[in-house]
Amino acid sequence: MNNFEYLQAKDTVTAIDLQQKEENAFFIAGGTNLIDLWKYNVSNPSTLIDINHISTNQKITINLDGGIRLGAAARNADTAYHPLVEERYPLLSKAILAGASAQIRNMASNGGNLLQRTRCYYFYDHQVPCNKRIPGSGCPAKTGYNRMHAILGTSDSCIAVFPSDMCVALAALDARVNLSGPEGERSIDFTGFHRLPGDRPELDNNLKAGELITSIDLPEKGFKENYSYLKLRDRHSYAFALVSVATVMTLEENIIREARIALGGVAHKPWRVKEAEDFLVNKAATRENFSAAAGLILKGAKGSGNNDFKIPLAKKAIIRNCLMALDPSSQQPGAQPSV
Ligand code: SF4
Repeated sequence: MNNFEYLQAKDTVTAIDLQQKEENAFFIAGGTNLIDLWKYNVSNPSTLIDINHISTNQKITINLDGGIRLGAAARNADTAYHPLVEERYPLLSKAILAGASAQIRNMASNGGNLLQRTRCYYFYDHQVPCNKRIPGSGCPAKTGYNRMHAILGTSDSCIAVFPSDMCVALAALDARVNLSGPEGERSIDFTGFHRLPGDRPELDNNLKAGELITSIDLPEKGFKENYSYLKLRDRHSYAFALVSVATVMTLEENIIREARIALGGVAHKPWRVKEAEDFLVNKAATRENFSAAAGLILKGAKGSGNNDFKIPLAKKAIIRNCLMALDPSSQQPGAQPSV
């Protein structure tokens, strides 16, 4: 490991200022992904700016509009078990607890969860080319072992997936990301935060240079009556999703008035398709309608060989998760939905 300088910032302005002044400076909160990337020689910071001591970024509070604000430096575990989140946004709590291990969730920050990088094996192996690590060098995953890789929104440059569980729920809940940077503060829709790879796969998101995530806002409506998060993976503990689905709905009797469905493990960002969500509005909550919506979500899906199985798997996962969202009791640990 190279020598590096360690600095602490007590407030956001100082953190941004330090990041501008110091060469090759990285913000660090939990460090659960950055340290991995460093050990694998993918990232090599010269300066670490510790943002854990910015007190305003650690809290979970109620906003004036009735929604809640998740501090970017609050830990994933503290967020998942926070009474406001458990009571009002059970989808988010469930998605966070489906991710990583208890130890990692205790360290990982909310902001860091949004900024984690792909787990593509070739990206972490600096002996091989990778367009995301070294732009223009190539993508060995396209013709190599690509079981974990994307089936939607891919490009000739990159077929990596974004690995977060938490972010799939945040996408379904219409969260907003609050940013601070050298040019001031701004807020962007969650679905606009992450990018598809296109011809710039080295860019994972739409952060501008020097910007810091300060918090994440959730709207008041938390869909606690009808929600479900389903994660399908190779082993039940500590594995990234092959496919995950977050579903929230508003129902009147058995008629869907609002539906949102976000997928994880299938693309370079959490995947939502407005056409499919609109299709479900004012329709009966039936397997047939969920199956038709799944078809719209997966329109254009394309495998790369080893991951072809994800297409039928994702279809079944969407249908099953929508049916589970009809019955909140199916969310209890150990419950088996009747689907
Ligand atoms: Fe690199 Fe993306 Fe190809 Fe993986 S899929 S090797 S991250 S360019």
